[in-house]
Amino acid sequence: MSIFDRLLTPLAVGQTVLPNRMVMGAMHTRLETLDRPHARLAAFYAARAAGEIGLILSGGFSPNAEGVMEAGGPLFDRAEQLDEHRAVTRAVHAAGGKIVLQILHAGRYAKVPECVAPSAIKARINAWTPRALSLDDIGRTIADFAHTAALAVEAGYDGVEIMGSEGYLINEFAAAATNHRDDAYGGSFDARIRFALDVVRAVRERLGAAPMLIYRISSIDLVEGGLSGAEIATFAQRVEAAGADLINTGVGWHESAVPTIAASVPRAAWREAIRNVKRAVSIPVMASNRINMPEVAEELIASGVADCVSMARPLLADPEFAKKTRLGLADEINTCIGCNQACLDRIFTERTATCLVNPRAGREIEFPEGRARVAKRVAVVGGGPAGMAFAVNAAERGHAVTLYEAAPRLGGQLNMAKVVPGKAEFNETLRYFTARLAKLGVDVRLGEAVSAAALADAGYDEIVLATGVTPRVPDIAGVDHPKVVSYVDVLTGKVDVGARVAIIGAGGMGFDVAEYLLGDGRESLDPEAFFRAWGVDIANAGAGTGGLTKVKNATNATNATNATNATNPAKPRRSVHLLQRKAEAPGKGLGKSTGWILKARLRRANLVTISGAAYDAIDDQGLHYRVDGVAQTLAVDHVVLCAGQNANRVLFDELAARGIHAKLIGGADVAAELDALRAIDQATRLAVEL
Ligand code: NAP
Ligand code: SF4
Repeated sequence: MSIFDRLLTPLAVGQTVLPNRMVMGAMHTRLETLDRPHARLAAFYAARAAGEIGLILSGGFSPNAEGVMEAGGPLFDRAEQLDEHRAVTRAVHAAGGKIVLQILHAGRYAKVPECVAPSAIKARINAWTPRALSLDDIGRTIADFAHTAALAVEAGYDGVEIMGSEGYLINEFAAAATNHRDDAYGGSFDARIRFALDVVRAVRERLGAAPMLIYRISSIDLVEGGLSGAEIATFAQRVEAAGADLINTGVGWHESAVPTIAASVPRAAWREAIRNVKRAVSIPVMASNRINMPEVAEELIASGVADCVSMARPLLADPEFAKKTRLGLADEINTCIGCNQACLDRIFTERTATCLVNPRAGREIEFPEGRARVAKRVAVVGGGPAGMAFAVNAAERGHAVTLYEAAPRLGGQLNMAKVVPGKAEFNETLRYFTARLAKLGVDVRLGEAVSAAALADAGYDEIVLATGVTPRVPDIAGVDHPKVVSYVDVLTGKVDVGARVAIIGAGGMGFDVAEYLLGDGRESLDPEAFFRAWGVDIANAGAGTGGLTKVKNATNATNATNATNATNPAKPRRSVHLLQRKAEAPGKGLGKSTGWILKARLRRANLVTISGAAYDAIDDQGLHYRVDGVAQTLAVDHVVLCAGQNANRVLFDELAARGIHAKLIGGADVAAELDALRAIDQATRLAVEL
């Protein structure tokens, strides 16, 4: 018996039996469009199938040209496209898996001039105003869904998922906010959900009884004018009656001003919205959003919230999530930390998705598995993300690896990141690397600042230096004043930071320090604290509130530019000023999908940002600076330096002096714009080449 018994129990979905309750959720990777033919996409899904995931949901494909996410976006409407889909379904089936095609009509979110919607109401996150569908158009669109479903089965998919959440076309019909029609598809609740039910019935009819029909319902809309909890329960019952085999649950619309999947959302936060759907129907229900560990998934099933779980990003992070769960190796799962840096942020900037903690994701063909031809003795110096990733990957390839870390613990910069509110998931990355290093027999030497002489004497075949960075000390008069501290002093808890603070440097670190000094860690760990902070009524009791507590003030903000439904918290703990020399608005370099969340939280905590600052001096009075030539003084207790980093190459130079060429990775290689994404990617690539 496993502690994940429920997760490992087969599940009947219509006439299909899934081998376990773990499903890979639908996610665009851009491999669908940027990479043709679909060899990389096929390899990507096949790796997840080989990792024993019970079912894969493909990224969304539009049933017609006007419903694509953007020009050239995934579209499946013609027989000529069958072969590229067959490449995917064959690869998945050959690896022992199952895959269904998600059909997604983007409605008014489609970034194409010909976009359509129930009513001609523009979404704030789209430049185009949709054309209102005529009754004829509606009939044609329903037929298009059914046609794509038939093509999917012909291409070998095991069924389809109809995307009815996240604010896309079907959701837009259901919500009064976006449906102002006065015909059979608008007005009353029954009329607004008619389109969804017609689609489900038409698709079922074309599929026949055997292929799976999954419907993704919006379990809570999080937009003003969204459905109430009671309406969503009724909607789910009607979807069941219309012929669905399983109901998947989405959370929020893309234009919602409440975060739904970032690391700052507590794990399984949306459980009560999902339970509301589960209680209403007799077919299986699937939970989704911020489920990244088998314990979380098991508990959701055990407590009756859902029958199975959908995890999209966690399957980018570890294709063997399900297999490791079955084998009792959960501590070796490479956990998705909800950062969005290498998946969503790359997709939003027109690159293919990969994963910060797993650079192989989406690049399975580039990173062949297997052992090195010649096993070498390798020394790695530095136990931060780059050093740990290199050591694990090199050891997996059969090399004998010794990892030296001067500090008494592994982690390097991760130890600072993990204490920032909303970044506690970095603990899981540390847990993963620690477990893998132990399993692979890497000789980890903690508290050992190895010298060049010792490395030379040991006669390693390869020496890899991941010695990281040292904080940059800017050239400002008084920078050695006792009130000046570095971000390292702050994030390692070395200084007791005062009530009035100036932060010099508004890069990722400056924002992290501001959040550390002002933020409330409970908001990303405790759903109740999160709901209070972001103004969510998870019971979704009020008609037309969409689950928001402050509908009158709610703004349909884009996630990238953001206003929020957040409530003002208790008095901020400190007064913090964040300064940069550049004239532009601070925070431009923050992630597209998460920067707005951080900035909203800091706004709530009254963070003051100052751009275009020229620093004059730091003294007993505080920080003296000028903006546009006007001298100012910030009376502060501490000035925190977050002015970037320099590469730490002391050991590299000492080895070079002895004629030994070591390889540099991570911040020791290039300090500028270093982050864990680049460090882990570079380390993994080097290990594969060794
Ligand atoms: P950074 O991004 O290079 O930012 C350094 C900041 O210091 C800039 O705002 C810069 O702006 C200022 N600065 C640079 N030289 C200065 C000088 N001589 N005097 C005064 N100010 C100076 O460095 P970081 O913030 O330490 O971040 C390092 C890396 O880690 C970055 O790649 C960052 O993206 C990553 N990181 C990411 C996150 C995240 O959440 N994704 C969090 C932490 C760190 P001005 O020149 O305009 O003053
Ligand atoms: Fe998860 Fe970050 Fe990887 Fe995306 S990049 S899958 S959020 S760990």
